Amino acid sequence: MVRLNEIRPGEVAVETPEPSDAALVFIGRIRTPWTDRLACPRQGRQDGPVCRIELFEPWSAGLDGLAQYGAVEVLYWLDRSRRDLIRQSPRSDGTTRGVFSLRSPVRPNPIGTSLAKLVAIEGATVLVRGLDCLDGTPLIDLKPDRCAFTPLAPPQPGDFQVGP
Ligand code: SAM
Repeated sequence: MVRLNEIRPGEVAVETPEPSDAALVFIGRIRTPWTDRLACPRQGRQDGPVCRIELFEPWSAGLDGLAQYGAVEVLYWLDRSRRDLIRQSPRSDGTTRGVFSLRSPVRPNPIGTSLAKLVAIEGATVLVRGLDCLDGTPLIDLKPDRCAFTPLAPPQPGDFQVGP
């Protein structure tokens, strides 16, 4: 779904409070080949082009230890999105769904996440494959792949567990 500022049949917009984006600290910027939403993939692919995540200072020291992981979860701010559509029509066919049942970039707090393949770390720059954001998208956070992450403490009673 690519949109600029249109409302599609059946969609519902709401009045939104004044955004207070300053509560977030953008820790870097993401360099990708895409400057146009029409050309940008809807979800990243692990065989997609190498993209550059450039950390601002003083955050680059926080990359220490990340290289041991094969994948990194990237959180970014979809800064060119509208934020007021509570019901949306992804297929532009008149049928609508609630925003929280979609991975649309149009959402109250336009946070995007991708599990990206870690290619290399060069100083303050992380090279990855698997992103789907426009060139210049602000970076919110990086986290190691949760599947590969070994918790430091043994599981405690009451910890969330998957499976039997
Ligand atoms: N993978 C993320 C997720 O699932 O949270 C984002 C998925 S979202 C469907 C990806 C789309 O957001 C792209 O195809 C593009 O149309 C749009 N997009 C990418 N970067 C953006 C930006 N900086 N501001 C607004 N829209 C953006």
